[in-house]
Amino acid sequence: MDRHLDRPLRVRFAPSSTGPLHVGAARTALFNWLLARKTGGSFVVRIGDTGAARASENDDASERAVLHDLRWLGLTWDEGPDTGGPAGPYRHAERTALHREHVERLLSSGAAYERDGAMWFRTPPGTTVVHDLVKGDVAFDHASIADFALRTPAGGATYNLATAVDDAAMRIDLVLRGDEHLDDTPRQMLVARALGYEPPRYAHAGMIVDKDDANDVGALRRAGYLPQAVIEHLALLGWSPADGRETFTLEELAGLFSLERVGGSPSRFDAARLRAFNARALRALPRETYHALIAERMQRAGLLEDPIPQAADRWIETFLDAFGAEVHTLGEALEEIAKLREESVTIPALELERLRTRHVLFFLDAVSQYVDDQPELRGLPLANDLPEIAREFGLSKEDAFGAVRMALTGSHDGPPLALLFALLGHDRIMIRIGAVSSHILHGRGLEPIKYGPGGVPFETIHATPPGAQATGPGHEGS
Ligand code: GLU
Repeated sequence: MDRHLDRPLRVRFAPSSTGPLHVGAARTALFNWLLARKTGGSFVVRIGDTGAARASENDDASERAVLHDLRWLGLTWDEGPDTGGPAGPYRHAERTALHREHVERLLSSGAAYERDGAMWFRTPPGTTVVHDLVKGDVAFDHASIADFALRTPAGGATYNLATAVDDAAMRIDLVLRGDEHLDDTPRQMLVARALGYEPPRYAHAGMIVDKDDANDVGALRRAGYLPQAVIEHLALLGWSPADGRETFTLEELAGLFSLERVGGSPSRFDAARLRAFNARALRALPRETYHALIAERMQRAGLLEDPIPQAADRWIETFLDAFGAEVHTLGEALEEIAKLREESVTIPALELERLRTRHVLFFLDAVSQYVDDQPELRGLPLANDLPEIAREFGLSKEDAFGAVRMALTGSHDGPPLALLFALLGHDRIMIRIGAVSSHILHGRGLEPIKYGPGGVPFETIHATPPGAQATGPGHEGS
């Protein structure tokens, strides 16, 4: 590593306070945090609310949200707007006196001038080379920079002035940020040098392309992603470990991270990849943690009392047995739970048509009776009992299981019926089966409709009269 960087680094993250924490900004925060932890340095959060004075309560709310999301990701800071520190205050808006003083200095040295009420930096002829630790040397001809604003007519410091002054005053060693700021860098270096400061080192990572442009950390948290998975995905946006691994804790990352492996080309935020990471992170959770996260979400959705009744804890355990390894996010888990709690279920018309036979009708009625007779639905020997009931009505085992699942869930697949029965409970099973039976019965008579759209016959479930199994038609195809 660069000789000057082989020491505890003071780095900063300067989110704007005008919106949520976008994934691109979160990646910048993560890389800075990692550099601070890896080198035993400090991670400073500075709220970059320049321009129009921070006036609105909106700004306060988004600052709180940004800090909350950073903390949720585990990216805690050594100095910041809420914690304070020796280089404070940590909001641009609270540093206006310092910014004003520096503009005055530039005016009196002739490095800046006033025009139309604004203060401008007088860019001298020449070239500034940014020795970027990611991009390499990038030369900027001053002719293309031209004079730029330091202070608006309203008196507010511009982003370039505030950033140059604050990075110097806070003794920031290295500025790591997205490369959308590469063009600002020579301006900030010119201002720093005109003030007699040595600019920090710079590293500009390739920007993050986000197809939906809607991925902010708060939205991911609300959708039920785990911080662990978000960190893993963010870490791999523009960086990769030498061994190609994809799972790591923040602490492990801090050990693995190095600027040398940060890339300058764009990388894509990949929602599908994050979803897969999240599924893996959910499965790796200790069972009690997974349980607690589900319970908390259910409570927030009004689906569970507080304190949690014992029966509900058992229900959640069964839910985890049934769906724990299937869902990708806590949000998906809640969707499944909401579906299980519904009284009724929608069965696709064609599927209903398949069920529309006398045999299925009587069979489902018998299953409903069977459920009604059981004091406890957990751990029923369905593998044995259902085929036995089915036999009475001449249904194959596969058709029997399929019909029950379709009647209860409107779907062909899902968790084992034994778990599903316990999750649905007596009442919902009876109501759902009752609804299907009434459709079958009152729909259009019991003669199955022979032809569907395009003249393709519906394949209703066949029954083989008991005693004729050996010679009856097979069910392999159904
Ligand atoms: N507020 C700026 C941003 O969010 C900070 C840029 C910088 O780090 O200097 O992009």
